[in-house]
Amino acid sequence: MEPMKPHQKRFDVIVAGGGHNGLVAACYLAKAGKSVLLLEAEAELGGATASVKPFPDYDARLSRYSYLVSLLPDQIVADLGIQFKTLPRSVASYTPYDRAGREDGLLVAAEWDEPTADSFRRLTGSDREGAAWREFYGGIAALAQRLAPSLLQPLKRAAELKSAMGLPEVWRDLVEIPIGEVIRDRFGDDLVRGVVLTDALIGTFVPPDDLQANRCFLYHLIGNGTGQWRVPQGGMGALVRELQRIATRHGVVIQLRAKVAALDSGPMGVHVETESGESYTAKDLLFAAAPQHLARLRGRAVPESLEGSQLKINMLLSRLPRLKSGVDPRLAFAGTFHVNERFSQLEAAYTAARAGELPQPLPLELYCHTLTDPSILSAELNENGFHTLTLFGLHTPAKLFDADPKRAKALAAERALASLNQYLLDPIESVLAPCRDGSLAIEVKSPLDLEADISLPRGNIFHRDLDFPFLDDAPGVGDRPLWGAETDDPHIYLAGAGARRGGGVSGIAGHNAAMALLTRG
Ligand SMILES: Cc1cc2nc3c(=O)[nH]c(=O)nc-3n(C[C@H](O)[C@H](O)[C@H](O)COP(=O)(O)OP(=O)(O)OC[C@H]3O[C@@H](n4cnc5c(N)ncnc54)[C@H](O)[C@@H]3O)c2cc1C
Repeated sequence: MEPMKPHQKRFDVIVAGGGHNGLVAACYLAKAGKSVLLLEAEAELGGATASVKPFPDYDARLSRYSYLVSLLPDQIVADLGIQFKTLPRSVASYTPYDRAGREDGLLVAAEWDEPTADSFRRLTGSDREGAAWREFYGGIAALAQRLAPSLLQPLKRAAELKSAMGLPEVWRDLVEIPIGEVIRDRFGDDLVRGVVLTDALIGTFVPPDDLQANRCFLYHLIGNGTGQWRVPQGGMGALVRELQRIATRHGVVIQLRAKVAALDSGPMGVHVETESGESYTAKDLLFAAAPQHLARLRGRAVPESLEGSQLKINMLLSRLPRLKSGVDPRLAFAGTFHVNERFSQLEAAYTAARAGELPQPLPLELYCHTLTDPSILSAELNENGFHTLTLFGLHTPAKLFDADPKRAKALAAERALASLNQYLLDPIESVLAPCRDGSLAIEVKSPLDLEADISLPRGNIFHRDLDFPFLDDAPGVGDRPLWGAETDDPHIYLAGAGARRGGGVSGIAGHNAAMALLTRG
């Protein structure tokens, strides 16, 4: 396509928001021959998929917000020619525990094996819980394989999709019965129950028996047909760089520091104005930031949603800490390291946070990127045994930070580290890399920071509440295929995480918005 003329103001499509979904949408549209302008509010592309060097003394590029990939379909990677690799983790999870003074841990390998079976046996005293685990996740794996391709197709209705899946019992457990009830029914051990439940609570502030937890759980288990969480080689920013390369190659015009501040839509198309006063017109607008922002820009009621509820801590370590259980830290931190996430602890943390208290102990999970992919550190840091550690704390809703954001963040960080230290022989503070100014290499992001940094409404990592990946509306929508991107304005589409089937690093919302536009009559 033609390069942009110096003052080009009219395009086929404007994409508002340069997170990975906005970039994916822009790439599909430009590849199909549309002239595309992408407007990003911040000075950098990527939104929640950015990589940064947060500690100036160290050459370490950390995934600042999102850090693992499961939901990105191979089809999008192939369609766009994205040269971005994700790497498998050898360990699925490790959960340290102290039972009657005995320090040990539940180690679950990526593929079921004898050490995993033995680990379940040591925790629970029999093979029953391990067998329940395999049966539960076996059923989900079968569903994932069938369900994942549908995410890139027009939406089906619930009954139609359920019948197409042919796994009514798994469907019932994941979609129809509260996941908390399912977990209590299938598993007997509090710790095992908690490990299963965590996938339902990532960034989602609800009790286990709320169906919103089912939605979160479903998306965490079906990614790309396997549900496997993989390490983005080069960090999450590598995906953004690739998408930027492809977008630019196809002629997408990208404007940074160009926050859409006003928009207007009529029969002829849309007109947008940026905060800095630039104005552009296009036939269509794909809005790839949160739907709450779109509602405000259109003067509509802002959709209700849960607020964000997680604490993200990025750390650089001069070495991995030893554990009280004696397990090799290279094994324990290679997968998801669960801390104080028993079912009863997650329930107690929810109750405390609901009552306005910061949970103690704080439930959280960690993983070490550099055990799988050292490429985000300089050769020197690798040679000297440095590692990164990513911490994701649960049940820390935005409202806990409102009154005194700085103090609440300091307290949350203190509780997170104390929670982790319960299981470490070397306190985490003793292995954090020291910086020249006397500080330690640790960066903390509360939900309020996420709103301030990258416009996530109240820090909601999925922009808004997740929906099930099917239509449940009453009949009457018409026969037109729907992609979950449509709004009540025929020229405006949702292309970000807040679209139905958006949420997470998937590109699905970007793909589906582009398809809705390209396939409409
Ligand atoms: C701390 C954290 C950890 C996470 N961990 C994971 C994980 O490990 N794996 C996973 O799959 N998902 C994870 N997620 C969720 C996932 O990152 C997001 O759901 C996803 O990246 C959203 O992508 P997006 O492109 O739709 O939106 P965003 O990444 O939110 O991008 C939207 C962009 O729009 C811009 N913008 C906003 N308003 C305007 C405007 N008015 N005009 C122009 N531009 C605007 C923003 O600056 C931003 O760049 C995590 C999220 C967070 C915050």
